[in-house]
Amino acid sequence: MEHLEIRDIQKSFGSNRVLDGVNFSTEKGEFVSLLGPSGSGKSTLFRMIGGISSPSSGDVLLEGNSIKNHPGSVSYTPQTPSLMPWRSILDNVLLGQEISGKKDEEMAAQMLERAGLSGFEQAYPHELSGGMKQRVSFIRSILSPQPLILLDEPFSALDEFTRTDMQKWLLSMWSEHQRSILFVTHNIEEAIFLSDRVIVLSQRPAKVIKEFEIPFERPRKEEILLSEEFLY
Ligand code: ADP
Ligand code: MG
Repeated sequence: MEHLEIRDIQKSFGSNRVLDGVNFSTEKGEFVSLLGPSGSGKSTLFRMIGGISSPSSGDVLLEGNSIKNHPGSVSYTPQTPSLMPWRSILDNVLLGQEISGKKDEEMAAQMLERAGLSGFEQAYPHELSGGMKQRVSFIRSILSPQPLILLDEPFSALDEFTRTDMQKWLLSMWSEHQRSILFVTHNIEEAIFLSDRVIVLSQRPAKVIKEFEIPFERPRKEEILLSEEFLY
């Protein structure tokens, strides 16, 4: 059975029709990228999969049931990072793990350090730049235990070097824990490099116009990306 099914989703804001019957499904453990022009409705669709907005018609199903019946199964990282302003950076990362009751503070601190955020563990979100907040919410997301991870352009504000590091973590987390990942990006190369399958949306009002498998072996990708020589 499909893990996630997007079934004929339509969404309008007043007379502005944004999604015009979007259909696709993903398998458990698959890494799927969603590409589409700016303004086509990718973030709008993600908010519905993340359960914080409802479609005008159609439904989002997780393991055959409406997503509304699966609270807490989806880790959703919005395009604009939303961190808890009154919690420290380290606490913000650990918040994602509270669901499982199993906090790995050491791992969180290590990842913050590798992401260029050492010394900011006890700082508050307003003290960080946009790119730093993006890294914090990405780390929170990959350390959280949910089976479905939604990442909306998580690397858009990062320099090439940091982005490569984050891609490496993402692939390593994904291969270790068999999560399902849905990833929005503008970057076609990034989509091809990271994913098993790419789904392309049209201009608004959006429909799926193309879907293709990436014909690279998953182990080979990880081998390249996870090798130290790739970076250093
Ligand atoms: P993308 O992420 O593909 O760049 P978005 O999903 O952010 O696109 O936006 C698609 C369209 O939906 C835009 O034209 C935007 O005006 C409209 N839209 C998104 N959210 C709202 C909202 N809350 N109210 C009104 N219009 C919205
Ligand atoms: Mg967007």
